Amino acid sequence: MLENIRIVLINTSHPGNIGSVARAMKTMGLLDLWLVGPLQFPHAKAEEMASGATDVLAQATVVNTLDEAIADCCLVVGTSARMRAVPWPLVSPRAAAEKIRAEAPANQIAVIFGNEQSGLSNAELERCHLHVNIPANPDYSSLNLAAAVQVITYELRVASLDTSAATEKWDYRLATHEEMEKFFTHLQEVLVEIDFLKMSAPRKLMTRLRRFFNRARPDVMEMNILRGMLSAVQTARGRRPDESRDPGYYGTQDINE
Ligand code: SAH
Repeated sequence: MLENIRIVLINTSHPGNIGSVARAMKTMGLLDLWLVGPLQFPHAKAEEMASGATDVLAQATVVNTLDEAIADCCLVVGTSARMRAVPWPLVSPRAAAEKIRAEAPANQIAVIFGNEQSGLSNAELERCHLHVNIPANPDYSSLNLAAAVQVITYELRVASLDTSAATEKWDYRLATHEEMEKFFTHLQEVLVEIDFLKMSAPRKLMTRLRRFFNRARPDVMEMNILRGMLSAVQTARGRRPDESRDPGYYGTQDINE
């Protein structure tokens, strides 16, 4: 299970923290570290703080955007010290670890952590299915980045040791983040075309729709149906869907299976 879980750090400022995260991960049996636009990496301070976990640093994947880091993930969990304007499904580290344990054998999973100063942005948090808050001292709730990773990875390790717990079974695999993003792009395009969404006054419509569909966790078959419905709306309005953009989502084959 642990091999299907990646830890994603976004725009980390201090290279020493990246090293400490590598160490925190390896002590708990997690080895897959992804860095989105680290300010300084590789760096001697990262190596120093990683101690015996420099192999985790050596095999870390560095990318420019969060979307690249989670493209193939079916469950994305965001960690946050603060509550946000639009509430999101919020769980404890233990409950998140149990959910991850149930899904990890079949799916790639990401747990994402924010920058030391600013944390995760709203756009980043909106890409998550679940938010996790470490129930710290309400008067001083922001943990050091590596300490937060240690708490979460400890819970993941404890959950992984419970071999008696059931894993979730489903007929189709869940949609990946990349497939969800293509769906949201297509959905927004159609909502604008039918004048339901006005880009001059978008309000929180797309945020609420993101929350709704991320809560629903569509599988690939359901995603195919949703994309087919959107294409049918476009066809009915005389617009030929651009099949080259995303082939495979426009046919009706399999949908009525
Ligand atoms: N000032 C930032 C905190 C940044 S701490 C803020 O208010 O959001 C760096 C990262 O550590 C956070 O983005 C989050 O990923 C993690 N973290 C720190 N404290 C946490 C807590 N109590 N619960 C969950 N994650 C936490």
